[in-house]
Amino acid sequence: MRARVVLSQLPLSLTVVLVLVGGLFHPDLFESQPFMIGVGLHAVLLALCFIVPWDRLPYASFLIIPLLDFIPIGLMRHGAGTVITGVGLLTVFPVIWLAASGLYPRAALATGFLASLGIVWVPLFVADAAVNSQSLTQSFLLPFIMLAIGITIRVMTASMMAQQAVVEEKDHTLQKLLEESARRERLLETVVNSVDIGLIALDEAGRPVLTNRKLEQFRALAGGSADTSEADLRIFQQDGSSVTPAARRPTRRAADGQVFSDYLLWWGDLSNQRVLSTSSRLMTNQAGTREGSVVTFNDVTELVRALNAKDEFVATVSHELRTPLTAIRGYLELLTSMPDLEPEVASGLEVVSRNSERLHKLVVDLLATAEGPPEITPAPTNFSDLVGRRVATAEERNNNPLVHFENHTAPDLVALCDAPRIGQVLDNLLSNAIKYSPGGGRVTVSAAEVDGEVECSVTDQGSGMSAEELRGVFSKFFRTSAARNAAIPGVGLGLAISKAIVERHGGTITCRSVEGQGSTFTFRLPLAHADQDLQTQES
Ligand code: ADP
Repeated sequence: MRARVVLSQLPLSLTVVLVLVGGLFHPDLFESQPFMIGVGLHAVLLALCFIVPWDRLPYASFLIIPLLDFIPIGLMRHGAGTVITGVGLLTVFPVIWLAASGLYPRAALATGFLASLGIVWVPLFVADAAVNSQSLTQSFLLPFIMLAIGITIRVMTASMMAQQAVVEEKDHTLQKLLEESARRERLLETVVNSVDIGLIALDEAGRPVLTNRKLEQFRALAGGSADTSEADLRIFQQDGSSVTPAARRPTRRAADGQVFSDYLLWWGDLSNQRVLSTSSRLMTNQAGTREGSVVTFNDVTELVRALNAKDEFVATVSHELRTPLTAIRGYLELLTSMPDLEPEVASGLEVVSRNSERLHKLVVDLLATAEGPPEITPAPTNFSDLVGRRVATAEERNNNPLVHFENHTAPDLVALCDAPRIGQVLDNLLSNAIKYSPGGGRVTVSAAEVDGEVECSVTDQGSGMSAEELRGVFSKFFRTSAARNAAIPGVGLGLAISKAIVERHGGTITCRSVEGQGSTFTFRLPLAHADQDLQTQES
């Protein structure tokens, strides 16, 4: 503040020095008392600029200096008289200072004008000579010139101040934005590092832009550090020992723009292996273009262990059931083939036999699901014949007189499939169509070549399913509440097994259904090539 006050006063002081230098050529100037008092007063004011602790005084206090400046200038002008002319122009310095300060603008302009007028007129009134219009208008221009200069400076200062205010406002906003963005970054970092899921964000070129601590732990598990590339990590497939190819690893897949969910991989060596479920989502900008991806890594080891334990339990129990059941079925066959059985005994044996068959089918299904993907031996098969025979068997077994069959299979379709396994799929779809049509109706089977594949559909007019139920229809142990309530026999494994068989062939199976109107199950299998030998028998 002091430096500012001194610097503002300095131009005037330097000009006064110039006047004094000029005065050296006019020695009588120094004999003028008013002039010398003016110079002295000015020196005092300059000294005040240095001495006064302006910082500790109210802000506007410095204005006292330009205000007082008019007095020594007036005295010097009066003293200089005609010896050195133009001393009155020194008023321009306090006028500029007052106008440029930006404080009390109107009062500053008025003061500059009145003080300049005072400098010109006061000597006239003080002098003995008569005051007339001539003497009053002699230096009459000075106050107006000072007023004009003051106004110009004021306008320029005001626009500068307005610009400065805009810049300050922008600076303030920018500062706030920076603080907000730093706060968000801290929040993001805290959240990202406190979740129990590994995270990595990639930019559009696939370079990592954000990772979290949990991911570093997973990478350490797979023998990596922060700098190890994903391709060098010890990541395995489901068997725990076959290395996952680099192109099939999650970050690489995400960098390639793939979106996936629940992609399971086995991280680390067998002794210390964890199963991670990985998923990838795209990040898009406002225009909807891809800006990168986020990949998540979730440790599902315990869940996978629990599911394996469940499958092992089902497999063990089914094995244990199968042995006594085989003995029961063998003896039943022996007993039912005995001659001259009492009718009650024969019908009792019939009931036992039927139930032991159901039990047998259940055990076989349980074993099939516990054993994982079914083994298949695909061979060119006359699919039309296969469907014909399975429909005929279903018609034979059907004990609901309200259900009747229609077969619209195109002739001579040849599929590349394992005939007994596909026969099992057809049996399951046909028996379901009968079971879930308690009110009867038409069961239509159709098969044709579609898009280079064999497509087969089984349609019924039975109970159907809701959209919600439809979503789980191929899951293990899934049963609709209607099936459970109506006590229709079944455990919900047939469709899961059918799906596994069809997919093992490289095919697909889908279902469309409307509650109360019926369902259509459709599966597709590969066509056999013309040069492959046709297998006509099912087994
Ligand atoms: P299961 O018939 O032994 O219960 P599935 O796996 O074959 O087992 O079928 C699973 C469930 O899907 C059935 O319990 C039934 O609720 C439903 N479902 C299957 N097929 C049909 C169908 N054709 N119409 C209506 N519901 C069906």
